[in-house]
Parts: sequence; C-alpha cells; structure tokens
Amino acid sequence: MAVSIDLEQAAAEAALDKEMNPWEAQAARFEFAAKKLDLDAGIWKVLSQPNREIIVHFPVMMDDGRIEVFTGYRVQHSMARGPAKGGIRYAPDVSLDEVRALASWMTWKCAVVNIPFGGAKGGVICDPKKMSQGELERLTRRYTAEMIDVFGPEKDVPAPDVNTNEQTMAWIMDTYSMHMRQTVTSVVTGKPINIGGSRGRTAATGRGVSVACDQALQYLGMKPADCRVVVQGFGNVGSNAALLLREKGYKVIGIAEWDGGLYNADGINIPMLVEHRKKTGSIRNFSGASEANSEELLTAECEILIPAAHENVITSRNAGAVKARILVEGANGPTTPAADSILEQNGVFVVPDILANAGGVTASYFEWVQDRMGYFWTEDEVNDRLDRLMIQSFQDVVRYAESHGVNNRIAAYMLAIDRVAYTTKQRGIYA
Ligand code: GLU
Repeated sequence: MAVSIDLEQAAAEAALDKEMNPWEAQAARFEFAAKKLDLDAGIWKVLSQPNREIIVHFPVMMDDGRIEVFTGYRVQHSMARGPAKGGIRYAPDVSLDEVRALASWMTWKCAVVNIPFGGAKGGVICDPKKMSQGELERLTRRYTAEMIDVFGPEKDVPAPDVNTNEQTMAWIMDTYSMHMRQTVTSVVTGKPINIGGSRGRTAATGRGVSVACDQALQYLGMKPADCRVVVQGFGNVGSNAALLLREKGYKVIGIAEWDGGLYNADGINIPMLVEHRKKTGSIRNFSGASEANSEELLTAECEILIPAAHENVITSRNAGAVKARILVEGANGPTTPAADSILEQNGVFVVPDILANAGGVTASYFEWVQDRMGYFWTEDEVNDRLDRLMIQSFQDVVRYAESHGVNNRIAAYMLAIDRVAYTTKQRGIYA
C-alpha cells in the first residue's frame, strides 16, 4: 500500500516537473501551432531547435578574495529575421532548458510584433541578492568577455531581464566597447539614457501590458473603471503596469510579491507604494493596504490578473480557481500548457506573453535604431510608436484567432511561426 502511494506521488511529481519545464511548455505550443499551420516538415525541424547554445564556466574574484566559478548561458534560437535579440537573467535556478525556452519565446515575440530580430536569451546561475555591486560588475564584465564573439549589434543584442537592469547593460556596453576599441552603444538595449538608452525603454514592458489590457477591454466591451486588477510581481514590469493602469482608471486591488502580498478592495495607491518600496526595500508594512497571501491573490475575485514575475505561476493546480475574466501575461511563460486548457474551458480571455510583454523588446528595437542613427527621439515619440505597434499586434492576433478558430496563444504562435517560416524559406538553406 505504502509503496503504491509512493509510486503515485512520484508519478504526480514527475508529471508536474514535466508540466513546469519551460522548454517542454514552449515545445507543446510550437507543435500544436505548427500542426495547425500544416508546417513543412523540414522547416518544422529547423524551427523546433535553437540554432546555437553557448555554455561558459568562468571565474570571478569575490570581495573576500575567494575565486568563485559561475556558469553562464547564451542561446540563440533564430537569426532568420535579423540579429538575435533577448535579455540576460541572473538567478540561482537558471537552467539551459529555461534559457532555451526564453530564447525561442523571443523569436516568436519579435515576429508577433513584426520587428526585424531573431530570438536569444542569456542567463547566469548566481544569487544577485547575496552579491555586492562590485561582484555583480565583475561577473557581468567577465560573462561579456566570454561572449565577446557572440554579441554584436548585427549579431546578438542583449537587454535586461530578471535581476538585471540598466547598470548591468552599461557594464556590458563598456566591456564590449573596450574590446572593440571604440564605443558601440548598439550592442545592448535597456541602457541608461545618457549612454545611448532610449527614452521610454524602462517603462516599456509595463506600458505594453497596459495597452494590452485596454485592447482586451475594448474587445470584450468592458470599461477600466469597472475593472479590478491583481498584479503578481512588483519588479520593473509589474510596477510600471500597475502605475499606468491606475492612471488610466483601473482599480489595482492586489499586489503579490515573493515576500508577501497586499490587498485593498478600494484600490491601492500605486505611486505611494512605489515610494514605500523605495524607502523600505519591500512592499510589506504598507499602510495603504492590508497584508494578503500572494498565492491566494492569484485566485482572488478580479477582472484582470497580471502575472509579471516568472514562469509557472498558473499551473494545473490553481488554474481552475482563477476567477479573473482576463489574463494578461507580463512575465514570460507564467502559464503551463495544462493550465491553458483549463483556462480555455473556463472562458478566460488570455493575452499571451509573446504579445502582452512585447512592449519591452519593441522599445529595445527603437533603442537599437536610435543608436545606429545617433539621433534620439522624445519620450512621446517612443510611446506613440510603441502604443501603435502594440495595438496593431493585438488586432492581428485576435483577428487570426477568430479566423482560424483557435485561442489567442495559439494564434500568436501561428502568426509568428508563419512569419519566421516564410523568411526561412525565402532565404533558403545554405549548403
Ligand atoms: N527581457 C525582455 C523580454 O523578455 C526584453 C528583451 C529585449 O528587449 O531584448 O522580452
């Protein structure tokens, strides 16, 4: 009896492990969409694998004089439509499968918004919360030096992702430039403004998420004032989305963070919360809301749920309990394929990650263009172009979903795969 229970438990855990493997999640959606598209078998093989995977193990001198060795990845999924593009994340649980999935999501994301980039992603296994600025700088510079032949404005252009920011990008740009013996601003995006960054880039992913919310409401005939929003994650994406949504008249009633959540049925004052976090380093002990359980906030009564932190937040375990009418994915891969089916059955309108969070890479594209021109746009120009591109892409995806009788996620994949496949065929196979 005990043995069979153990076996059952082990099987359940193995199934959940598979469900939560981002590369498997990506592959499941790719296969479904490719089948629907009746994709050529050869092109299928080309697009179902990353083009290149680079793994480096490199030493960093720590503050106490110890030498530590870190493992870093860069995966280039596709360069068919232009230079590989995608962020770099620092986290203790970074893995090759995760970086692979994120790289392919970048390919599909850039194709959904129709910008001339392929897809890539990088990651370093480390715990930035336990590292000093000096250690992070040395890690970043050494990782960049290891990737010196990989990165390049016309080859592969990194950007911020989880636990990296404009300072990280400044170090990458400087290290790359030192090796090239000239300043090359267009090698990374998401830089500080005075060294070739773009106005509007920092808030762009959150801004794109807010535009996706507006579009979803318009599509479903709903109004911001009647919308209660829960945001999971209060990093760059979640905090900027929450700020903009509040400005637009939505009621942000819940914020879920890794160290605790907040709830206020009348709406949380987001600018005040941003100030509070700046002062205390956490959203906890904020007087403008009561403490709430972050896990429970995901299934709270609301109209819009925005997971804006990491993968595997909505799984087969909690998808059935989600009460939101609309799910807008600010993070990459927050929903597993098993959860997709449950959400679909329950009629949840999903704005998938490769559309909802594409505002970031879209503003990165604008930054890359400005760097190469050496001519910079006003914030209004950036925001205006960003809004137009997000609206157009949203319309493309929902129209595609309607005309092909599929959900929004599969429509976004189909649209993206079709665009990349077309380019791949047109360029032909180099022999
Ligand atoms: N890390 C962001 C993403 O996942 C931005 C990537 C970029 O701008 O290249 O979309």
